[in-house]
Amino acid sequence: MTGAAPHKKPQRSCIACKTTDDKRSLLRFVRTEQGEVVFDATGRRAGRGAYLCGEQQCFDRARKNRLFDRALKVKLGNDDYDRLEGDFKEQSREVGKV
Ligand SMILES: [Zn+2]
Repeated sequence: MTGAAPHKKPQRSCIACKTTDDKRSLLRFVRTEQGEVVFDATGRRAGRGAYLCGEQQCFDRARKNRLFDRALKVKLGNDDYDRLEGDFKEQSREVGKV
């Protein structure tokens, strides 16, 4: 259902800047069965996933354009984005640079 053609490597792309990278360097967010979107630290949770690179501007763009809503077919409120941003910031510190 992702519509992605079967490519060679498991590459994912940031929903904001479309940068593709291998899974490990992208942050995964997943929609749970309850229709909630949570940060997936393990990258292994079942469910529809959306990826962001570690750039703050990408999260900002995702929030502004409601990219999670579109990617995950959900309806998120500002408080959801606030919560996700908290997780995002915590993680991007580790994934990204110094
Ligand atoms: Zn990005």
